[in-house]
Amino acid sequence: MPNKRLAWHFEQPERTSNAGFAIAKYEVTGAADTKTTPPIRLYTLPNFVVTAKPLREEIKKMMSFYEERFSAFPWAGINIVQLANNFGGGYAPLSGTFMYRNVFGAKVGGQGYSSFSELTAHELGHQWWGNYVRPLSNGDVSLSESLAEYSSCLYTEIELENRNQLIQDNLSFVYTVGAQDDRPMQATNVYSSPKYVQIIYHKGATVLHMLRHELGDDLMHKGLQVYVANLGRDYAKVKDLRLAMEQASGLDLEWFFEQWWQRKGNIYVEFAGRVETLKDGKYQVKLRVKQLTELAFRFKLPVRITYADGSYEDIDLDVIPDDKDDRIAVLTHTVDKPVRGVRPDRTRKLLRRFIHLTPADVNLDGLVDGADLIETAFRVNRAIVWKNNFFPNRLWDELFDIEPSYRIDADDVDLVVSSAGTTSVPF
Ligand SMILES: [Zn+2]
Repeated sequence: MPNKRLAWHFEQPERTSNAGFAIAKYEVTGAADTKTTPPIRLYTLPNFVVTAKPLREEIKKMMSFYEERFSAFPWAGINIVQLANNFGGGYAPLSGTFMYRNVFGAKVGGQGYSSFSELTAHELGHQWWGNYVRPLSNGDVSLSESLAEYSSCLYTEIELENRNQLIQDNLSFVYTVGAQDDRPMQATNVYSSPKYVQIIYHKGATVLHMLRHELGDDLMHKGLQVYVANLGRDYAKVKDLRLAMEQASGLDLEWFFEQWWQRKGNIYVEFAGRVETLKDGKYQVKLRVKQLTELAFRFKLPVRITYADGSYEDIDLDVIPDDKDDRIAVLTHTVDKPVRGVRPDRTRKLLRRFIHLTPADVNLDGLVDGADLIETAFRVNRAIVWKNNFFPNRLWDELFDIEPSYRIDADDVDLVVSSAGTTSVPF
C-alpha cells in the first residue's frame, strides 16, 4: 500500500471478541510436527529457538493433563507467542497465548521453570475458561481467571508435585487483603478493588481447590466436564458452574457458592484442644472451634492426629453451623492409641487464619510441654514477611507464630518455654 503501510487480514472459523496479534521476526517451533494433536506451534525470537523445543514438550504435557480432566482441546490448534519485551504477564486470546520474553528462556527443571509452568498452565487453561466458556458479566469473571489459576495450581500440584503456587495464592489473599479492599468474588465492582488479583486469582483458585476437597477429584472434574459440555461456545454465569457441579455430584452446593462467591473474607478460627482418657482405655481428641468472623463458615477441616508411637492418621472433621450465628463447635474423635498431638489443616487446604486459645499449646493436646517446644523450635526462621515485603513461605504456619510477627523466631520459642505447664481450660 502507499505510504509504506501494510494491510492484512486473517480468518478463523470461531466467533470471538478475544483476538490478538504480534509482529516480530519469528522462528516457528513445531510447525512441521503433524503427529501432535492439536498442533502446538511456538513463535519465538531467533535466539530462543534452543529453549523453545523442550518447553514445547512441557506444553504438550499440560495439554494432555487438561484434556484428561476437562475436555478435548476445543480449537484446531494453538499458537504460543513470545513477546519481544518483558512487560506484562500473559494474555490468552482464542487459540493463542502471548507471554513475556523471559518466560521462553526457562530451563526445564531449572532456572525460570516454575514461572514458566505457572504462567503457561494458567494461559493454556484460558482456552477452556474464558474462551470456550465465556463469563457473561463482570460478576462472573471468576469463571475465567479463577478457573485458569485453579487449573495451573492443579497442574503444578499433581504433575510437578509442588504445592507452592497453591499455598502462595492462599496466603496472598489472607495476609495482604485488608477489609476495605475486599469484595465478594461475584461482586460486579470486584474490578475496582486494588486487590482484584488477590481476590479473583488467588482467593478464586483456593476456593475452587476447597470445592475439590469437598467433592474429591473425580466429582470435581466430572462437574467441570458437565460445565464445558453444557456451555461450550456460550456465555456462563457463576450459577451455571454451581448447577453443573450439582448435576455431577448430586449434592446441594448452594451453601458453598453463597459462602465463597457472595461473601467477603476467609475462615478465621480460634482453636482449643484437649486429649482425654476414656474409661474404656481409649482416647478422645477434642477440638473446640470458635469462629471469629461475623458470619460462621461451613467447612471440612483436615486434621492430622500424631500418636505417641510416631504413627499418624489424617481425617476430615465437618464443621457445619446450624446458622450463620452458630460460631462454636466442639469436634470429637475417639482413637485407640495415646496421642502426641493434633494439627488442623497441616497442608493449608482451607482459606483460613487460625489462632490458639492457649497460644503455646501448638499441638493442641491441652498441655504446654516439651513437645510444643520441639515443634516450634523446628520451625524457627520461617516467615511470610521479609523486610516489610510479603514473601509467602509454604512451610510457615501462623499456629507457630505465637507472638504474632509473621515470623517464627526466638520470641515464639521463649513464649513456649515461659508457658510450660499451662493447661487449656476444660470445655
Ligand atoms: Zn488469566
